[in-house]
Amino acid sequence: MSNPFRGLPAVARVLEAPAAAAARDRYPPAALTAAVREVLEAARGQLAAGADGGDLSAESLAARVIARLDLESVPRLRTVINATGIVLHTNLGRAPLAEDAARAAYEAGRSYLNLELDLDTGKRGSRLAAVRDGIKVITGAEAATAVNNCAAATVIVLRAIAAGREVVVSRGQLIEIGGGFRIPEIMGVSGATLREVGTTNITRPADYERAIGPNTAALMRVHTSNYRVRGFTKTVGLDELVALGKKHGLPVIDDAGSGQALDLTPFGLPGEPLVSAGIAAGADLVLFSGDKLLGGPQAGLIAGRADLIPRVEADPLMRALRLDKMTLAALEVTLRLYRDPEQARRELPVLRMLTTPLADLRARAEAFALRLRALPGVTADVSDDVAYVGGGSLPDVAVPTVVIAVATTGVSEAEHAARLRVGTPGVVGRVQGGRFLIDLRTVFERQEDELFSALRTASTAPA
Ligand SMILES: *Cc1c(COP(=O)(O)O)cnc(C)c1O
Repeated sequence: MSNPFRGLPAVARVLEAPAAAAARDRYPPAALTAAVREVLEAARGQLAAGADGGDLSAESLAARVIARLDLESVPRLRTVINATGIVLHTNLGRAPLAEDAARAAYEAGRSYLNLELDLDTGKRGSRLAAVRDGIKVITGAEAATAVNNCAAATVIVLRAIAAGREVVVSRGQLIEIGGGFRIPEIMGVSGATLREVGTTNITRPADYERAIGPNTAALMRVHTSNYRVRGFTKTVGLDELVALGKKHGLPVIDDAGSGQALDLTPFGLPGEPLVSAGIAAGADLVLFSGDKLLGGPQAGLIAGRADLIPRVEADPLMRALRLDKMTLAALEVTLRLYRDPEQARRELPVLRMLTTPLADLRARAEAFALRLRALPGVTADVSDDVAYVGGGSLPDVAVPTVVIAVATTGVSEAEHAARLRVGTPGVVGRVQGGRFLIDLRTVFERQEDELFSALRTASTAPA
């Protein structure tokens, strides 16, 4: 029997093949040699397993080597086109930043900056100085601080206010945020004891009242930002909770979650409670995310009483949860945009996408579908649909939208979706009811040509 490995070329021959030789200026010799060895090893493995190793010529193997090196040289994290219509897609990084905010992060990243240096006095300053005012302005609070995300904000606030004591929360608000992170567990790591009151659908002021005792440190409301209980329900409003807190001398903590700072009702979006509503209702501390409806970088914003914020900042965990310079730079600029609500709506992609008029979306979709129909074998049908905001925001608000169902003769919708995901750039759409859908609401206009090329490539790829 002939040795199946005998057909495999030597490492040196693969390296001399034109495809490999042409890549010598891009990859160091050691990387090329290592990749050739790995490709040969893989081919040997296939042959040993009795598989057909394919074309084993030096040139073909060299091409595999270069394809492998090219793939490895692209960062794992890369931008994708979000054609799902889901504006806050946690798996796709939630809020895209405003141009100015992204630029601020870029400049902060590539430079030195006055992060903790007061340029006027030459003395040490606080890295949070840049964002405190902005948070105070959008919430109306007298003091503010920020940490890495809203989950971190919950932990540090409860530690600072209630470690070793009890925090009273309604059972109807013990939510799982997503990815397996549950409010009760997050509260657990703070060292505070969760005192659950009421039932899943009904909680009354009397339930809180009964639970309050000498060991109670705070009352907490968690905004059920990713689900709704319907039907026979009763919850205790923040104002009622504040009244209870006043009566018993207890601080009220409001985990507002999605952090909406601009009223979107004029645009037909009922919206989440505004971050200013919590403070206006008398909550002592309000917590919310930076990268949900606020439209900024990942952060956990804490606004509230001037005597409580320093207690939170004095907690040793503050150092472990502190924000980095790029996030702070982007957050400062994001918050500044809110000084002019119309500018915020225009320049923050999350708000712009959410408030895009349906007629504009339809016109864009029709024009784009027309381009797609010119491709051989491609069909593109425009229809009305609904999308959800996502990212733990407005869970029961179906936002009317316009989608394009794209299909290529002989290609299943799942195959279509897969080809687009792995393309360059990657495109993520929605597979729904046996159709592959794209929703231009979440596609930046600057990405339309790239999206078109990606769809063209996917329609012509070999099956
Ligand atoms: C999303 C959410 C959180 C978690 O926020 P992250 O910034 O993702 O940590 C906490 N609480 C509520 C109510 C939320 O909606």
